[in-house]
Order: sequence, then C-alpha cells, then structure tokens
Amino acid sequence: VFRILHGSRDLAMALVDMERHVSYIAETLKVIGTPHEVVDLEDARPFQKRGGSIAFEKVSFGYGGSHAVLRDFDFTVPAGQKVGIVGPSGAGKSTLIHLVQRLHDVEAGRVLIDGQSAAEITQESLRYAIAVVPQEISLFHRSVMENIRFARPEATDDEVREAAAAAHCGFIDDLDDGFDTLVGERGAKLSGGQRQRIGIARAILKNAPIVVLDEATSALDTESEIEVQTALTRLTRDRTVLAVAHRLSTLADFDRIVVLVEGRVVEEGPIGDLLAANGVFARMWRLQSRGLSVDEALDKAG
Ligand code: ADP
Ligand code: MG
Repeated sequence: VFRILHGSRDLAMALVDMERHVSYIAETLKVIGTPHEVVDLEDARPFQKRGGSIAFEKVSFGYGGSHAVLRDFDFTVPAGQKVGIVGPSGAGKSTLIHLVQRLHDVEAGRVLIDGQSAAEITQESLRYAIAVVPQEISLFHRSVMENIRFARPEATDDEVREAAAAAHCGFIDDLDDGFDTLVGERGAKLSGGQRQRIGIARAILKNAPIVVLDEATSALDTESEIEVQTALTRLTRDRTVLAVAHRLSTLADFDRIVVLVEGRVVEEGPIGDLLAANGVFARMWRLQSRGLSVDEALDKAG
C-alpha cells in the first residue's frame, strides 16, 4: 500500500510538473503570438546579414475582403537610418511593421531586407535579423530573468543583466526577489513603463541590426517617459530603425519622419523640413505641444 501511495504521489508530482511545462509552452506560444499563415518556400535561403536596409517595392497587401491596406507601396530605409512613422489610426502603420517581419506575405511586390526578398528567405533566419518591440509587451508568468532571456535563450545571466541595465530597468532591483521575481499573470505586477523597458531589454539582448518598434499609444508618467526614451536611444544606437511613434520625445531622435494616411505617404523628411513645410505634420506638432497625443493631434490636423 505504501508503495502504491508513494507511486501515486510520484505520479501526482509528475502531473504537476507536466502541467507546469504545458502552461509554459502555452504561454510561450501566446508570446510568439500570431498565427502561422506564412510558410517557407521549399528552396528558402537563410538570410545573409549585411548593413540592415529595408525596402518595399510596389507592395500591395490587404487582410482579405476588398479593402487594400497598401497598394503599389514604395518605401526605403537605408542601412543605419532611423525612420519614424506617424499617422492616424488605421493608416497601416502596424501593418507596415508586420510586413517587415513577414508576419504576412504580400499579395504583390516585394519586401526586401538587406536586398533579399522576405518571401524567399527562411522565417527563422529573418527573426535573428530583426529585433521587435511590439505595441503590447507580452510577458509570461515566469521570472523577470526568464522574461528578458526569452529574446535570446542562450544568453547568460550576466548578459541579461547587462541588457536590463542598458534598458534602464533599475526598477528590477527594487522588486521583492530582483531578477527572480515572478512578473504575475500577463505581467500584472509591472507598470506600463516598466513593461516597455522589459521589451526594450529583450530587443537589446537580441542585438539585431534592424529594430522595428510599434510604440504603445498609452501615455506614460513623466518619469517613465524619460526612462523609456533613454532606453530607446540606447537600443536604436547604430541600428536601422523603423518605428511607429506616438510621442514627440521619440520622434526627436529620428533622421526622417514619414506621415502615413490611408496607406499612402503624404509627407516625409527630416523633422526640420516638415516643420518648415508647415503641412500636416507641422500642424500636428503644434497641437501636440499643447498637450494632445500625436494621435489626437493628427486627427485634428489631418
Ligand atoms: P494603424 O497601425 O496605422 O492604426 P493598422 O496597420 O493596424 O493601422 O490597420 C490598417 C488597416 O487594416 C485598418 O483598416 C485595420 O482595420 C485593418 N486591419 C488591421 N489588422 C487587421 C486584421 N488582423 N484583420 C483585418 N483587418 C485588419
Ligand atoms: Mg497600429
């Protein structure tokens, strides 16, 4: 009887352990997120890392139905340039960022990363070339250490700590168990600004030549905003950057701003030129300096 009891306890333990693994896998899948509609070609090649340029050549894309989000869309980001995308809600900003990561295949035209068509290279190799800071940072119920390491599973503890420091994650030391603190379901224990810095730490840890960033629309308190901005400046240094920006503090660092409206570029250039041109962006800039978000200002300025 004792042996049976003992055995069933082992079984129970094994089940608990398995349950833990299954929920870990499920959480990881949730973090990886998007459904896999994209399939590698049979003769897909591994991506060859070069300087980190991005080009859209006559790209058309829609989510099914009659409405095309992008049509014959041309767009280039030379290696090392930092481009900020602004535009009203529904303009296609996130779609653009997703197509760079090849989360969807385009219907016509090509998306080129370092001169290689995204459709012809393996998804796995493309993932190494691009660090993504998504609009919503997905965290799973694991330690802060594991949540950051997720970006590069083979990274050492020291490498994770360095990335966290570079991303201004000083708050981690103030958590109950530091880097061992469990972040809570979906990261509920962390503030918006802290979650964003975890996302930035992941991207720094990944150390990819291209950074794509879909900035969260939610407002941050002033202190978080400064910390997040400093972390972003560190992340984007010496990299190609394509970023959807909702805050002026982010835009200030960019070489070029692109104003996207209904899938078309209506204005683009360095901030100074756009302000001098006194168009949509300049109106938006003036409105935002009165305390409106870029999005609210754009809706009014458009
Ligand atoms: P933005 O990021 O500028 O707000 P999006 O790229 O998210 O714009 O959306 C562009 C257009 O595509 C919008 O009309 C939006 O409703 C539509 N759209 C975005 N994602 C999906 C989706 N998964 N399925 C169907 N339509 C979508
Ligand atoms: Mg968006």
